Amino acid sequence: MQPSDHPSPFNLGLIGYPLGHSLSPQLHHAALQAMQVSGTYRLFPIPPLPDGRIELADMLQRLRSKELDGLNVTIPHKPNVLGLLDELTPLARRAGSANTLFIRGGRLIGDTTDVPGLWDDIAGWLPAEQAAAKTALILGAGGSARAAVVALQEAGWRLWIAARRPAQAEELAGHLGGEINILSLDASALSQLNGIGLIVNTTPAGMYPKMEGCPWPDELSLPEGAAVYDLIYNPAETVLLRRARGAGLPARNGAGMLVGQAALSLERWTGLPVPREAMWAAFNK
Ligand code: NAP
Repeated sequence: MQPSDHPSPFNLGLIGYPLGHSLSPQLHHAALQAMQVSGTYRLFPIPPLPDGRIELADMLQRLRSKELDGLNVTIPHKPNVLGLLDELTPLARRAGSANTLFIRGGRLIGDTTDVPGLWDDIAGWLPAEQAAAKTALILGAGGSARAAVVALQEAGWRLWIAARRPAQAEELAGHLGGEINILSLDASALSQLNGIGLIVNTTPAGMYPKMEGCPWPDELSLPEGAAVYDLIYNPAETVLLRRARGAGLPARNGAGMLVGQAALSLERWTGLPVPREAMWAAFNK
């Protein structure tokens, strides 16, 4: 039901570039309908900086003027909005990243729902044996690796990051702090690891349309006893997940993270509980 303090339709959307493939409008519209809350969620493609600089500032002004009620932010604008906000939530500050923007008390706030969206999905799925290891290996060191590191650190896990450019992982670890071990994403380095309970792929290797890719070296088996979570959800089963299942390991794709972060964003904006099943049904359509 429409919240009494917000009788007009919610005006929501996503800024990023390119946005042609985004499922976010379907997920949000399905949830709004199930909640019987009126609102629209639109795509606002804004070119990378410097070309999109004025458009980006204008979008945030539309939030300040209450023409818009909430925005999600994706590639390439996550780092670009940070300097334009009044405040970050403690978790967004910790992650150095905001994907959900709204006005509270007249201030423009940036929050991250990527971190809890990822963690809720992992925690709800990970078998007890792998969870007990509390040692994870993250593949890749880009934007979403940041969310994975913060989620796992908050839960008290020991972390390894394997990146094809270890300097990128060093930089990420330097920003986030805590004890993070870094290695090169190659067979000789990975074969030295033991005691890994969870592998989280944050690289785009294997994502549509280059579905033959796999971040794990062909010549190396996956570690025995590890579970594998791949942030990619298109295709539903990447080469990495197929290899994991073939080796008898628990494996899950990133659809639950996508739904989780979307639901948490909509909860921030409306102040109402969001039915995940409505978003799942829209995702599976
Ligand atoms: P990003 O910031 O570009 O980072 C990608 C990382 O992967 C970088 O460290 C990059 O290294 C590395 N990489 C790229 N191609 C590689 C390859 N072939 N082999 C090994 N490493 C490779 O991207 P992102 O925003 O983190 O997104 C990464 C993936 O996560 C995408 O597939 C995205 O769709 C997915 N994702 C899913 C969700 C969800 O809700 N499920 C949320 C966010 C992201 P270089 O810098 O050397 O290229």
